[in-house]
Amino acid sequence: MSNLFFASAMLPDGWAEDVLVTTDQRGRIVSATPNAACPADAERFAGAAVAGIANLHSHAHQRAIAGMGECSGEGSDSFWSWREVMYRALDRMDPEDFEAVAAQLYVEALKAGFTAIAEFHYLHHDRDGSAYADPAEMSHRAVAAARTAGLPITLLPVLYNASGFGGTPPTAGQRRFIHDGAGFDRLTTTLRRAYGGSDDVRLGIAPHSLRAVPDGLLAETVAANPQGPIHIHIAEQRKEVEDCLAHRNRRPVEHLLDTQPVDGRWCLIHATHMTAAEAAAVAASGAVAGLCPTTEANLGDGFFAAESYMARGGRWGIGSDSHISVSPVEELRWLEYGARLTSGRRTVLAGGSRRSTARRLVEDAQAGGAQATGFESGRIAAGLRADLVVLDTDHPLLAARKGDALLDGWTFAGNTPLVRDVLIAGRAVVRDRRHPREEEIADRFKKTLGRLLG
Ligand SMILES: [Zn+2]
Repeated sequence: MSNLFFASAMLPDGWAEDVLVTTDQRGRIVSATPNAACPADAERFAGAAVAGIANLHSHAHQRAIAGMGECSGEGSDSFWSWREVMYRALDRMDPEDFEAVAAQLYVEALKAGFTAIAEFHYLHHDRDGSAYADPAEMSHRAVAAARTAGLPITLLPVLYNASGFGGTPPTAGQRRFIHDGAGFDRLTTTLRRAYGGSDDVRLGIAPHSLRAVPDGLLAETVAANPQGPIHIHIAEQRKEVEDCLAHRNRRPVEHLLDTQPVDGRWCLIHATHMTAAEAAAVAASGAVAGLCPTTEANLGDGFFAAESYMARGGRWGIGSDSHISVSPVEELRWLEYGARLTSGRRTVLAGGSRRSTARRLVEDAQAGGAQATGFESGRIAAGLRADLVVLDTDHPLLAARKGDALLDGWTFAGNTPLVRDVLIAGRAVVRDRRHPREEEIADRFKKTLGRLLG
């Protein structure tokens, strides 16, 4: 058992002061006691503790090109022209490079207050498209990077089989992503052998999208993987909706719900373009909507109709996706600001009168992130992992604030990082804003980018 002592903490019943959290050997919370005395052997944290938020959608390799698609091309730039830039830049990335980029991202994610990451991983093969000797080579690198950083990871190997609806063959830029059903089985079997039962790794699957996985293969893959999270990109782009209507005579979310057993294991990434009926059906299914507001803004995807979805009790969480930003609070802020800009009102997602907007956003994102990653976390409560974030209550931006006002300050007041400490399974992996390996990891990252992009 170990003792952690926090000046204040957000517990399931509300804010409390002088909170003693005891954890077992695996870093699970045994008890959380308010108004406690601080035992002599306790590790003491001066700030305000909240359960961490899982980042439920990451393409780690895209961290290497964050901010590089911002120079206008000829004609109209879109998601699809950005994707060409991304494919070209990543053509040269080898396993060492990928691990260096992912480690840098994962340290950044931890320092920002993310306490787990779901890696929607599709860069599987060698540069010429052939499989590595170990088909899971790149996946092993994602886990190695996460372990270097100390960030729990949910590995979601991506099944990518076609370049468009109707089974169009993959393009040259997609040669490193492609699997058939047998190849994907080999990959998931290898991963289960390597990481099944690990405390810091969860395994799921990610059929890339309806356009990249034909219906029959999607059904077989879902049936062959009866456990763990299932994530899929869906209804991110209007063109995708139009193509799905043309080929399947239904909208993407409507088609998925009609053809797959969508339930709480599923995470529908983006789900931007839904009708009211589709949103109601997703909310009723128990699936999580995986929202990535900064990437969706950067790519011009559109606004998720958060107010009506949340009013129906829809579950959701946040991801930093392309990593144009790596910050849980920037994702939450953009979600609320999108709702304000479209409605002409304030505190749209607070969920009732006299409620803190950030409290609602943070609690929903904690719960949705835990569900979508499969880590038992998201609240400071007995039996759950002690994956916690400690806010810097000494910072001027949080001066004279308590309770939910700390969350509102953290979420809405500017861009200064306000996370001081981060604990994973009860151990501080970021202390006083520092990760013990951050310089070494950043050096390796910079050298890698020099080689890849220089
Ligand atoms: Zn994505």
